[in-house]
Amino acid sequence: MEHIVIIGNGISGVTLARHIRKLSDKKITIVSAETDYFFSRTALMYVYMGHMKFEHTQPYENWFWKKNRIELKKGYVKQVETETKTLHFAEGDTLQYDKLIIATGSKPNKFGWPGQDLNGVIGMYHKQDLEQLEKYAPNKEVCKRAVIVGGGLIGIELAEMLNSRKIPVTFLVRENSFWNGVLPEGESKMINDHIKNHHIDLRLSTNLKEIKSDDNGHVKSIIIEETGEEIPCNVVGLTAGVTPNIDFLKDSDIELGRGVKVNRFLETNIADVYAIGDCAEQHEAIGNRRPIEAVWYTGRMMGETLAQTICGNKTPYKPGHWFNSAKFLDIEYQTYGWVFGERGRPEYEHHFHWKHAKENICITVAFHKDTKEFLGINTFGIRMRHEIFDKWLTEKRDVDYVMSYLKDANFDPEFFKTYENDILTQYNNTFNTNLTAHKKSWKRIFSKV
Ligand SMILES: Cc1cc2nc3c(=O)[nH]c(=O)nc-3n(C[C@H](O)[C@H](O)[C@H](O)COP(=O)(O)OP(=O)(O)OC[C@H]3O[C@@H](n4cnc5c(N)ncnc54)[C@H](O)[C@@H]3O)c2cc1C
Repeated sequence: MEHIVIIGNGISGVTLARHIRKLSDKKITIVSAETDYFFSRTALMYVYMGHMKFEHTQPYENWFWKKNRIELKKGYVKQVETETKTLHFAEGDTLQYDKLIIATGSKPNKFGWPGQDLNGVIGMYHKQDLEQLEKYAPNKEVCKRAVIVGGGLIGIELAEMLNSRKIPVTFLVRENSFWNGVLPEGESKMINDHIKNHHIDLRLSTNLKEIKSDDNGHVKSIIIEETGEEIPCNVVGLTAGVTPNIDFLKDSDIELGRGVKVNRFLETNIADVYAIGDCAEQHEAIGNRRPIEAVWYTGRMMGETLAQTICGNKTPYKPGHWFNSAKFLDIEYQTYGWVFGERGRPEYEHHFHWKHAKENICITVAFHKDTKEFLGINTFGIRMRHEIFDKWLTEKRDVDYVMSYLKDANFDPEFFKTYENDILTQYNNTFNTNLTAHKKSWKRIFSKV
């Protein structure tokens, strides 16, 4: 019986295993050095914040794997020998495969800062990072201040986590406005203010120079590059992005770039070896997507797609229209299609921005300046319906259509205040149009493309 070995028990690896099992009787082994069982990485923050226990982050009961004949092996793969199809483990044993899937995810970036390996310096990726955080930042008495380095989605989650235990936070962000490589100016500024309003000491245009040690090899303070200022702290969180976790493949024949190089079928240069999830790097990016997509749902999609190929139905990875969602403290954010920040925005992309006068609620709609084709939307504080934007993007609707039918897209629960009329009024005033807002129609909402 063909033996499928998957390195990595994250969302991409376990999705692949589950789908291979649905489609076939193949022997399946999942290897992981991190945990015995799959858990939801995106929910790690809620464990620290006391909203759930770690076991609540495991979507499958422990018996699920045996029942579905998916073997789990705990161990760290230190070498892959593709000629003999053998995995070598740090623990000394080996494992043979017929087909190998690399699904080893990411690791937090470290840029060679002096002191980056001291006790009290943590990433925020693995379950072990959470355990370190619990050890070094259990409360504000033990951790009198934490410094977070790197202003992305994981950095702001870490700030929220520490804030929930009333631990003072200084947040160093290299850019001159929060996440402005991705967010347009108005949104990025709103998030700057929101962070500061939560009593987080946000330092924009600020880089880490060095982390200083006390006599016991523990973090004592950090030094800021630009000013030389020393900030005393007990914990430093490194959240300056992630990199594919592929160092163990450096001596193999598998082609590597920043990640494991794959084609549209998620195949590497070596027969019977594939890569999926955060560690896979497309030879050529798909549309505006990045060659490495470090998000949850794309890992799941890659797992589903590759299961088809491995079970005899060769299928390319086609992720469809871009979407994503996240949270900036208590502000929910969604994005559908493409809305570029200042950096990298194509010359043809125009924006319409609406912001509530008092609250942190806003949207930005991107459209083509000549054709008026709707290109994408960002929403903050308003929940929108994914399927509707997916449909409008596929149908290549123009921006006037989208604005007139925006009520169809609203996904806020019943009795929530809605803003589509205000949004349309501002749109009409800005573009000298006379559009009327259409009432929400369930028939339209559930109609197919
Ligand atoms: C705190 C946090 C919050 C996030 N929030 C969101 C979010 O809201 N939305 C979103 O879309 N994405 C989010 N992400 C990103 C998302 O979690 C990742 O894209 C996703 O988990 C990657 O899944 P994966 O299967 O590729 O790899 P992983 O989940 O990283 O799993 C890979 C596994 O392989 C193991 N492994 C690696 N190397 C070896 C080896 N040599 N031997 C054995 N085992 C090995 C690793 O230890 C790990 O267990 C978040 C990430 C973090 C860290």
